[in-house]
Amino acid sequence: MNVDRPQDESFDDCEHVLERVYEFLDNEIDAASGDAIRRHLAMCEKCLDQFDVEEAVKSMVHRCCGDEVAPSHLRMKIVTQLTVLRRTL
Ligand SMILES: [Zn+2]
Repeated sequence: MNVDRPQDESFDDCEHVLERVYEFLDNEIDAASGDAIRRHLAMCEKCLDQFDVEEAVKSMVHRCCGDEVAPSHLRMKIVTQLTVLRRTL
């Protein structure tokens, strides 16, 4: 099994996509990976269904603030990104 090939990362795997999607939403991911995630989500309704906003907000807030309460601007940003993502698919 091949690991650590960041330039040629596979986003065919749903779990992998869902792991990285938080970075994607937080703009912490490189453009190529972001595109790959967007492409995967465009083809995979399962991922889009599984990826729920509340979970994303909680996870991101926990990662960046260590707090359970999402700052409203962060929450809005995530919800907006997800809405845009769903609409463009
Ligand atoms: Zn998927």
